[in-house]
Amino acid sequence: MSDVFDVIIIGGGIASHTAALYTARASLSPLVISGLEPDQLSLTTLVENFPGFPEGILGPQLVDNAKKQAKKFGATYLTEVVTAFAKADNGFDVTAGGKTYRGRSVIVATGASARWLGVPGETQYIGRGVSTCATCDAAFYRNKTTVVIGGGDSAMEEAMALYKVATSITIIHRKNEFRASKIMQDRVLALTDKIKVIWDSEVTEVIGNGTVVTGVKIKNVVTGAESEVPTDGVFLAIGHTANTKLFTGTLDLDEHGYIITNKRSQTNISGVYAAGDVADPIFRQAITSAGSGCQAAIEAERYIEHLKAEGKY
Ligand code: NDP
Repeated sequence: MSDVFDVIIIGGGIASHTAALYTARASLSPLVISGLEPDQLSLTTLVENFPGFPEGILGPQLVDNAKKQAKKFGATYLTEVVTAFAKADNGFDVTAGGKTYRGRSVIVATGASARWLGVPGETQYIGRGVSTCATCDAAFYRNKTTVVIGGGDSAMEEAMALYKVATSITIIHRKNEFRASKIMQDRVLALTDKIKVIWDSEVTEVIGNGTVVTGVKIKNVVTGAESEVPTDGVFLAIGHTANTKLFTGTLDLDEHGYIITNKRSQTNISGVYAAGDVADPIFRQAITSAGSGCQAAIEAERYIEHLKAEGKY
């Protein structure tokens, strides 16, 4: 494997595979350094809102197909964790698995990780009642009961998405007020026919019957009283963390740690692009991630052409 690449793509999710597909088809022979942790789609089950799959497609299958497609056109994959990123002469140095690779351009697609409660039962029932995305999974809860954990804008959005299909939504929040914007709170709190709030309470366990979720155990943080809330679905909306530790001090990040890009997926450094959830705290969808992966790839291709035209390649 050569140590100098036209483009190095960091990350192993749908944004990364899409960027790899586009840059590979543009003969840029991308190196994808995909990390060891599973991407978010690989943690979901059926994806029903990715166009082109009328029957839906399993999340892991979707990412695997995209990866195969990129490989078919010549993308090289390396399953290592990137440990360093630095600007260098004529490009960028990316270190992974103890080796440093030079990229003339870099696409960062390291994603964002949903925060988890860390309580018993939570991991066991991921995709079987526990979800971190109502936009993705609400449709599975038609005529079912749900709870939403959290008090931010995401929790309000999750509750609104579930309101359209579920029979009931119980928001469980650890404080006695939401931090969500007033307009979103007001909208949610007005929907008293289906939505109710349990204040000052933390979830201490997700319970199930071995196959699917059946409820949550909660504890009132003021009184210490413990109780159980029966439910079919548990939607966690306690925030996401953008995977940007590696780029702190190099790339411009917003106040929540997401990479700041312009409409063309360009970061503050010429030749470095960002795609997918690492630069998107708002939409976080498979299709928007894939879309921004495509954008970043087209921009990287233009950048390489520009280097060639300027005699800097
Ligand atoms: P936030 O960090 O704003 O909110 C997270 C919520 O989860 C808080 O209420 C927090 O409680 C609670 N929480 C965190 N950890 C735990 C825990 N371990 N146990 C129980 N509860 C916990 O994240 P969001 O994803 O809601 O929003 C992120 C950013 O994205 C915000 O700036 C938001 O405004 C923005 N956003 C905007 C949207 C829009 O404009 N349409 C939609 C979605 C997000 P506590 O309040 O006690 O800290």
